[in-house]
Amino acid sequence: MSTPKFKNEPILDFSDKKNLSKIQKALEQVESKFGQEYPLIINGEKIHTDAKLKSINPSKKGQVVSVFQKATKELAEKAILEAIKVFNKWKNVPPKKRAKILFKAANIVRRRRFEINAWMISEVGKNYVEADADTAEAIDFLEFYGREILRYSKKQPLTKVKGEDNELVYIPLGAGVVIPPWNFPFAILVGMTSAAIVTGNTVVLKPSSDSPMMGWLFYEVMEEAGLPKGVLNFVPGSGSEVGDTLVSHPKTRFIAFTGSKEVGLHINQLAAQHQPGQFWIKRVIAEMGGKDSIIVDDEANLTDAVNGVVTSAFGFQGQKCSACSRAIVNEKVYDKFIDMLKEKVGQLKVGPAKENYPVGPVVSSNAYNSILSYIEIGKTEGRLIYGGNPCGDEGFYIEPTIIIDVEPNARISLEEIFGPVLAVLKAKDFNHALEIANNTEFGLTGSVYTTNKKKIKRAKEEFYVGNLYFNRKCTGALVGGHPFGGFNMSGTDSKAGGRDYLLLFMQAKLWSEKIN
Ligand code: NAP
Ligand code: MG
Repeated sequence: MSTPKFKNEPILDFSDKKNLSKIQKALEQVESKFGQEYPLIINGEKIHTDAKLKSINPSKKGQVVSVFQKATKELAEKAILEAIKVFNKWKNVPPKKRAKILFKAANIVRRRRFEINAWMISEVGKNYVEADADTAEAIDFLEFYGREILRYSKKQPLTKVKGEDNELVYIPLGAGVVIPPWNFPFAILVGMTSAAIVTGNTVVLKPSSDSPMMGWLFYEVMEEAGLPKGVLNFVPGSGSEVGDTLVSHPKTRFIAFTGSKEVGLHINQLAAQHQPGQFWIKRVIAEMGGKDSIIVDDEANLTDAVNGVVTSAFGFQGQKCSACSRAIVNEKVYDKFIDMLKEKVGQLKVGPAKENYPVGPVVSSNAYNSILSYIEIGKTEGRLIYGGNPCGDEGFYIEPTIIIDVEPNARISLEEIFGPVLAVLKAKDFNHALEIANNTEFGLTGSVYTTNKKKIKRAKEEFYVGNLYFNRKCTGALVGGHPFGGFNMSGTDSKAGGRDYLLLFMQAKLWSEKIN
């Protein structure tokens, strides 16, 4: 039977009472399991360590969601060595069989969807729709990469050479390390890991310390889907403690990382150092930070622009690499835009993720302190016109915050804040707006609101970001439709959810046989 064409998994509608009651029930069920402990897994072996890592509910910071093991350097090393052993078998499993495991995993995620959403809401503070979009994206990655490996394993076109039988095949790299962030705690983890696995590699997965439960759930899903033991090894632990061991190990063949610029650059540098006994140049796939702008032109539908900016800036509390953190607004519509913006943001209420508030908590105390200190900096660099305060001390809540009249070279205009803080900048004209939009070291997403086709054409040529949108929000990239990844300090120019992505986990081998 042929595989049906890929299509995006629809996102659930929580105004439907059936879905609402299912998610509420799942939240209660998940809560009854809070505080349980989960092992670290190396080649199927369940391991417990003395040191533990606790995952916390950011909406209610006294609440421990789950308890995990904290890998030591010795365990990290053991994981790589076991992954290498298993690689020698897994690489020979036919691509079709590997793809089948991903398709099966997608169905298991569909079946466990409300439960996965509920864990995510509890562990990182997403509201219902944000959590469901994350889980739906994970399903998309599984379905998309499953189909992609089928495409790559077909006969590849080569120029005919007389007297020869030639063939090019894509083969896996080896045992690699996957290091995801907490902000798309299921989708990105599932995407990077499944891409590595379906191409025939084995993986040591070190989940983010803020969202290890999501890694555990994926481990369970893959086990049920029939993934042989040792192909996926689940190794939670502190990035700064075991990260260097995993990255620098001479047997590590590749590192797939998504996270901050600082950690990405560190990994890239460490991976480049040749270690004794290392036979290859390690491949680093690093998807890093963003400082994403929306340009609001004077020839724009302002209502649409305000809606797009608000959704992009404050969805999941601005904790998306694609979040709009700068609105660059033409001076002719600047005052009007700000009035409309303030009114719209005024409708966003802040509260616990479990109760599905539009704005929930930020993920951790580190994030909370860092964002609040950026707000203090912002107050000296522009004019705070909305928010700016923490709210309540039950969880890590911060009001959606707007700072206007920010200069292009201000720190809050250039540095990634990763929270519910929007800087508004004034542009003299469209050229000036583009100039400001390109003035950061990042290049991830951007959007332009204008009805002028010439300006759209110019932005297509000049606005230097990996994902550029027009007259729509700059978040919410869809697998298959919007392959995702940025330029410059936003990463290694890869495109998750696109046709080039699996190539990052493979190498091409050519054989040529003389025939008479
Ligand atoms: P982060 O602090 O850089 O952490 C990312 C991962 O790296 C975590 O698993 C972390 O583990 C680990 N890590 C930390 N230090 C390490 C080290 N020395 N060696 C190896 N691994 C190490 O980023 P985050 O706060 O989780 O995520 C937010 C960032 O991700 C933002 O900058 C955002 O823009 C970016 N992001 C980018 C994309 C994209 O597609 N370009 C998508 C999503 C997010 P611990 O948790 O144990 O520290
Ligand atoms: Mg947490």
